Amino acid sequence: MSTALPFLPYGRHHIDDDDIQAVVDALKSDYLTTGPRVAAFERALASATRARHAIACTNGTAALHLVARAMNLGPGTVSIVPTVTFLATANAVRLNGGDVVFSDVDPDSGLMRPRDLEEALSRCPGGRADAVFNVHLAGQTGDLAGLYTIARHNDLRIVEDGCHALGTRYSIGDGEEHVVGQCRYADATTFSFHPVKAIAMGEGGAITTNDPDLAAIMFRDRTHGMNRDAASFVQDDEAFDAGHAPNPWYYEMEAPGLNYRIPDVLCALGESQLRKLDAFCERRRELVALYDELLGGRSAHLSLLARTPGVTAAWHLYVVLIDFAALGLARADVMRRLAAEGIGTQVHYLPVHRQPYYRDMSPAGILPGADRYYARTLSLPLFPGMENSDAVRVSSTLLRVLGL
Ligand SMILES: *Cc1c(COP(=O)(O)O)cnc(C)c1O
Repeated sequence: MSTALPFLPYGRHHIDDDDIQAVVDALKSDYLTTGPRVAAFERALASATRARHAIACTNGTAALHLVARAMNLGPGTVSIVPTVTFLATANAVRLNGGDVVFSDVDPDSGLMRPRDLEEALSRCPGGRADAVFNVHLAGQTGDLAGLYTIARHNDLRIVEDGCHALGTRYSIGDGEEHVVGQCRYADATTFSFHPVKAIAMGEGGAITTNDPDLAAIMFRDRTHGMNRDAASFVQDDEAFDAGHAPNPWYYEMEAPGLNYRIPDVLCALGESQLRKLDAFCERRRELVALYDELLGGRSAHLSLLARTPGVTAAWHLYVVLIDFAALGLARADVMRRLAAEGIGTQVHYLPVHRQPYYRDMSPAGILPGADRYYARTLSLPLFPGMENSDAVRVSSTLLRVLGL
């Protein structure tokens, strides 16, 4: 009699007793939200990413939205977004009223290349755009220095959607090692702390930046546009009493904001998880090396993801590229057969320009790299709590199902 093996999802969180204790301590404290744990988490994240400012917020989508608002990417502006990404990267711009032009990606890595950025620019009205959102798909970055040169030459703001890449290091361009979030080649970087991401907060997100003006706007916008910094008040008659002391109840609003605040309870979890980031990333890299060994060089129809030289990725996803057409297999059938054997897989992503909402805005068939990537991509289980034996089982089952 065989015992059913546990189901392996494509990704999941890893929570230890000390994470639980940190949450319990927060629950017993004076603050459930807007207390000291938010600032403590922001300091820890800024330190981990070597950024000057970190702004924590409700989720990765809110982080992208705050950036789009702070950069004034509203009506009349154009932002370039690679089409192989999660919906939120493009939606953040659309929700703020800006236009999106989708760029193609490398068919073998899913990453935007400098030439993809140039080609997308050539399709923008008048050949110009306002911003580019670069996505570190699966956890690795592309040619950041090459993209930076083109972006700056064309006066683009640069946002890195680092939701897959907390913990990724790179040595690109200047020969020094940097980390994602440091904004060496960007104005701002966004992160998500959804349970499948590098660290888990249930829901959570953040922006890192070295630009104090952007940071100040996002801190205010996160909480209704409220400003409590007396030094920058503009209405002296309302703000100050007869002795020129700020009125204790007074706060000021120059532009309406949102409530994208993240509770102290979740920041307690985030700070505890952040202490394990290096260990989590190390375990992910070990599992990726094992998968590479088990699946690499097996067949011309099964390729490993192309790697960017100089990048030590945190690996959010383990992606393989399978030529389903050449193997005479349907991807949906392969996924169902793997699921029947307890192996969860996922497709990251249907190119966003092929969604009904975006279809009419972006003529089909002009993004061949993305189409070729999408046709072959499959994400296999990868998370720090996986055993080596799990990766062995996934690999052998996949090869059997593919007939390789
Ligand atoms: C997860 C993710 C987001 C959104 O983050 P949420 O926390 O789920 O809102 C945005 N972009 C990418 C690339 C992501 O993977």
